[in-house]
Amino acid sequence: MGQTIQPVRGMNDVLPAEIGAWQHLEATARELLDAYGYEELRVPVVERTELFKRAIGELTDVVEKEMYTFTDQGGDSLTLRPEATAGIVRAVITNGMLRGQRWKLWCSGPMFRHERPQKGRYRQFHQIDVEAIGFAGPDVDAELIALTARLWRRLGIERVRLEINSLGTPESRRAYRERLVAYFRAHESQLDADSRRRLEANPLRILDSKNPQMQELIAGAPLLTEHLDPESREHFDALCAALRSIGVEYRVNPRLVRGLDYYTRTVFEWITDALGAQDAVCSGGRYDGLIAQLGGEPTPAVGFAMGVERVVELMVQAGRVPPPRQTDVYFIVSGARASEQSLRLVESLRDALPGRRIELNLGGGNFKTQFRRADRSGARVALILGDDELARGVVALKPLRREGGQTDCPMDELAARVEAELSGRVD
Ligand code: ATP
Ligand code: MG
Repeated sequence: MGQTIQPVRGMNDVLPAEIGAWQHLEATARELLDAYGYEELRVPVVERTELFKRAIGELTDVVEKEMYTFTDQGGDSLTLRPEATAGIVRAVITNGMLRGQRWKLWCSGPMFRHERPQKGRYRQFHQIDVEAIGFAGPDVDAELIALTARLWRRLGIERVRLEINSLGTPESRRAYRERLVAYFRAHESQLDADSRRRLEANPLRILDSKNPQMQELIAGAPLLTEHLDPESREHFDALCAALRSIGVEYRVNPRLVRGLDYYTRTVFEWITDALGAQDAVCSGGRYDGLIAQLGGEPTPAVGFAMGVERVVELMVQAGRVPPPRQTDVYFIVSGARASEQSLRLVESLRDALPGRRIELNLGGGNFKTQFRRADRSGARVALILGDDELARGVVALKPLRREGGQTDCPMDELAARVEAELSGRVD
């Protein structure tokens, strides 16, 4: 026997026992996004490294430390996507989708970041990513948040809170930036190595530091909210008013800056206290400058990404995972001729009852074995075909979850009888 090969650290299998929650989340999100007029698109898992460097920012944790970057056989530097926004923006530019058009798009799939794996933080994780491109807001910002709030309600998730903030325009941020640099410079001895490096190039990033030793210093830093330009202030006030009008509770967190560089104006985060050290469930914001920065015509945009693993965990904790799907019909077969005919019969039953889970006993076995398998499958109905039944042109039907004996059923009535039994129309 060969030696077992272990999976890659921080990259998980989603097993059948867990898949129900994933599928329920995916189906609910898909349905909601569709209802709000968002269209799905799928972008590659691999992009040119340059794209992420330019979109996310050289001095971010993601680009500095977390990217899976490699050189392919042709000598190109490629990166497994750490997030989806950059790829989506690249796609609307390179497919010529802008030209004054507006897009409401979503995408889902695996993302890759080389972080320290722990509960709720993985190296391959999944996001549902939603982007509204060509909309200046704040109406669309509010509607996107309304969509997420509705998703939590539909999933039965209660332990989440919304925090919002405005980062203003790049111009208004410039003035703030100077004050921030002055503040941190006055306390330079308290800065950790990362923050010292960012002080010149990107001091706002220091506010997003996760280092506990930095928190006190950060708490004393000047607030961006006090330096907003009038238009951004108006934009933000309108967003707040819209959220109040639909009864979505929020807290303005003036220190919310988000880890990626491209945000302008609105930023928001749904956070939870139910996932230990990992509190971010769904994060997003406006990125009015990104598309131009990546070579597209200047186009405002806003979006968010939710962490699927974290949302799934909240669903599990809330006890809101749908029960596993059970088999409806288990088809038991014995005898040589009956075995020959069984697949054809089951296939025609599947034609007649397309939504039903119908399992044919595979690999033989005596009656006792087959009935045991039928019972374990959760089937409510067993169908039994032996050579004797075949000779008489019938299939025996036995309810497994209610009192009632085995009865013969003519082949041409089988689908109707089975459906009646399954939908409880039998007395
Ligand atoms: P965090 O503060 O937890 O590192 P982030 O700010 O890096 O999150 P984003 O880049 O905004 O996260 O990604 C959006 C969402 O994706 C997060 O809110 C979170 O739910 C999820 N997420 C991010 N990184 C991971 C990861 N390594 N494992 C699992 N989920 C993640
Ligand atoms: Mg992170």
